[in-house]
Amino acid sequence: MEAKIIRLDVKDVRFPTSLTGDGSDAMHTDPDYSCAYVTLTSSDGTYGYGLTFTIGKGTEIVVAAVKALAPLVVGKVVQSIFDDFAKFWRDLTSHSQLRWIGPEKGVIHLATAAVVNALWDLWARTEGKPLWKLLVDMTPEQLVSTIDFRYLTDVITKEEAIDLLKKKEAGKKEREAKLLHEGYPAYCTSVGWIGYSDEKIKELCKQKLKEGFTAFKAKVGQNLEDDKRRLSIIRDEIGNDSLLMVDANQIWDVNEAISWMKELTDFNLLWIEEPTSPDDILGHAVISKALKPHGIGVATGEQCQNRVMFKQFLQAGALQFCQIDSCRLGGVNEILSVYLMAAKFGVPVCPHAGGVGLCELVQHLAAWDFISVSGSLEKRLVEYVEHLHEHFENPVIVRKGRYTIPLRLGYSTKMKEKTISDYQYPDGNIWKTIAKKESL
Ligand SMILES: [Mg+2]
Repeated sequence: MEAKIIRLDVKDVRFPTSLTGDGSDAMHTDPDYSCAYVTLTSSDGTYGYGLTFTIGKGTEIVVAAVKALAPLVVGKVVQSIFDDFAKFWRDLTSHSQLRWIGPEKGVIHLATAAVVNALWDLWARTEGKPLWKLLVDMTPEQLVSTIDFRYLTDVITKEEAIDLLKKKEAGKKEREAKLLHEGYPAYCTSVGWIGYSDEKIKELCKQKLKEGFTAFKAKVGQNLEDDKRRLSIIRDEIGNDSLLMVDANQIWDVNEAISWMKELTDFNLLWIEEPTSPDDILGHAVISKALKPHGIGVATGEQCQNRVMFKQFLQAGALQFCQIDSCRLGGVNEILSVYLMAAKFGVPVCPHAGGVGLCELVQHLAAWDFISVSGSLEKRLVEYVEHLHEHFENPVIVRKGRYTIPLRLGYSTKMKEKTISDYQYPDGNIWKTIAKKESL
């Protein structure tokens, strides 16, 4: 009997991070890092775990969207999904009625990500490999067969994508060995949350330098004088040899972004991230052009809703650092297409991470990128935020500012059972305790 998907469970899991200011930025001042967490059960007794990242309220809406997608997955023969994954992905995103509430964007696409991530975890577990290795071991034809190229062929065709991968076949073994030995470069965001005091920032910089980080990011955009003071503190602590990036989380208008950033040129910044609306492709192009003479690139992508938007960002020269998000795009299939387009345009991909689980997921994608696509670590870094890893069965290991390449099976998506029961919203023990305190 061929194995079938017999169950799809989804949970609303929330962490009360707003109590400590972890994750706070100019736009999202009090996030409770959360996720919609999916478990797939196959009739042969294997499981797949997947999630999409949210920041508190609204997770219940994503959970409802996952439930709406469930009938498209449950009952399917597992192997038939992986035999023609591009077709399955298109079916999942093209349901004739559900598509209306996207298409391929917003809540329904976050839900797609959770489901598709769980499928890739299941696939990697079935093959007995970590996800990055599953991707690396595929032939170019197999890998490309998972991608839906609809809306992309004016920029990249299936044949071009295969060609691109074939050109990098030589040297894959050496690059894999190098990565396993040296790890993948990370940068640290958790020194500069906007809700942190100057003292806390100073302390964290010292600590992270000691741990071996040489690249840092700080949140900006609420108050220019505060930004100057905070960036001075960070530069003083990390010195001029370390890389420093800033992130405005969409707070500015286009012209405001340019004038604000011109005030910060003394700090030798590598990029400004999300300077304005994540949908404003031409606005990002204007900002990119204006900041180029100052050596500052534009980075964006964590809220870029799909491959079509990324295509246009690349076509318009509107980003110099492409920040795919493992849970915003519709899972691995769509992410692969963005990596391949970025490679064609010669734009480095520096995945967005942090949140809950994002570091666990993107480390696999970055490893595959280095081994199979870009073959380079130049201008490539993976975001690292230190919160909430303890809730995963196989958390990321970051040593000396580098991700250690994961060796356990799957996509590193599985959370601990106790975490799910404690943090499930609103019935988990943690939330019951908080509700009790608030009612006192
Ligand atoms: Mg960001």
